[in-house]
Formats: sequence, C-alpha cells, structure tokens
Amino acid sequence: MRAATQLASWLEGAAMKVLIIEDDLRIGRFIQKGLQEVSYAAVWAQTLQEGIDLFYEDTYDTIVLDIGLPDGSGLDFLRDIQQHDEDTPVLILSARNDVEDRIIGLNLGADDYLGKPFGFSELLARLRALTRRRNASQQTTLEYKGIRMDLLSRKVTADGGPMELSQREFAILEYLLQNKQRIVTRTQISEAVWEGSYDLETNIVSVYMSKLRQKLRAAGRVDAEIRSQRGVGYCLE
Ligand code: CA
Repeated sequence: MRAATQLASWLEGAAMKVLIIEDDLRIGRFIQKGLQEVSYAAVWAQTLQEGIDLFYEDTYDTIVLDIGLPDGSGLDFLRDIQQHDEDTPVLILSARNDVEDRIIGLNLGADDYLGKPFGFSELLARLRALTRRRNASQQTTLEYKGIRMDLLSRKVTADGGPMELSQREFAILEYLLQNKQRIVTRTQISEAVWEGSYDLETNIVSVYMSKLRQKLRAAGRVDAEIRSQRGVGYCLE
C-alpha cells in the first residue's frame, strides 16, 4: 500500500466505529479482524441482548446486523432502536437472503442488505457508502430551536414557515447555526461570509444581524435568538 493510501485509509478509519451483531463465531471474527485491519474500531456482540446493550452504551458509525440470533431476531433489534429514533445506518447480514426478510428489514429502518456468503471487500465498500451517505445527509441540513436550513435546496424555515433570506443573510445564518451557542466574532463572520474581503471598520455585520433578527422574529415562534456580545461578537442562543 502506498503511504498516501495508507494515510487516507487510516484517517478515514480512525473515526469509524462499527457494531457487529453476529452469533456465528467464524463470521464475527472474520468481520472484526477485517475491520481492525483497516483501522476501524469493531465492537462485536454475539447475542441480541448484548447488541442492544452495547448499542445504547456508545455511538457507532454503522451496525452490521445478523438476523438469526440465539436469543431473538435481528429484526427485533431494528424495532427496538426505531422506537428511539436512531439514525445509525444498519446493514443486515443474513443467510436468509429472501425478498421477504429484505423488505421487512428495510421497512424497519435498515439501510442495506448483504446476503451470506459475502466477500469482505464488498462489506467494507457498503459500510463506507453508508457512512458517506449519512455524513452527506447530516451536512445538508442544519437545525436549531425551530430554525431549519436545507443547504442543498437553500430553503430556510422557522417554526415551519418559510423564511426569505438574501445570499449573505443565508451565509451568516448558516455560520451561526454551525457555531450555535458559541460566541463568534465579527472577524470570524466576515472571514466565513465575505472571505475577509471587506473593510472591518464598517458596521456591515451589524446591519445584517439586525435584518436577520427581524426576519427571525417575523417568522413566528422561534426560541433561537441572535445575541450581541458588546465588543466581542454574536451568539445564536
Ligand atoms: Ca446467525
């Protein structure tokens, strides 16, 4: 492996944590070992109950889930986590690769389905795709206290109602949402929104902030508020 590829794989893998729920020792070991070799943290549960316990103890990037477990069905795991509104991507891994199981699993919130036997490289490719998809969908919307910003369609709603924002106002609100509950200085805002290309002596940031405030108030019942910290900057609270 070339050094750059190795580094890329390490960087990608460093933050990745996978929960494997599989009772077959040979398969479980195979997946865990394979994931560890690409620097993933792989936690392995051999029963449904152990899987549920481990799931609620920690946060995972993806879950590899077997259907036939000694103390229940992997579908029960999906039912359980669905009640808790979890959005961790789940890949079902099962010998019962029939259409019915696949449909039930996907309806219960699973994101992908791989039939046994399988090759490790295919499993890894699918896990990577699931993580990428989730990260991409996480980054395309920003939400806070009634404000919802869709970065793809560039639509903003406050308390469910649409908010019309100019391009600059959109960029400022986006930056505030990304840094919610933190104080951001005028310089940080100008660098993020104008890429530093405007005169800091002007009060243009304040002008935009008061416009944004008015629009937030006009939009209805929104708990979020842009607070000024005199001489420091702003904070979305
Ligand atoms: Ca099994």
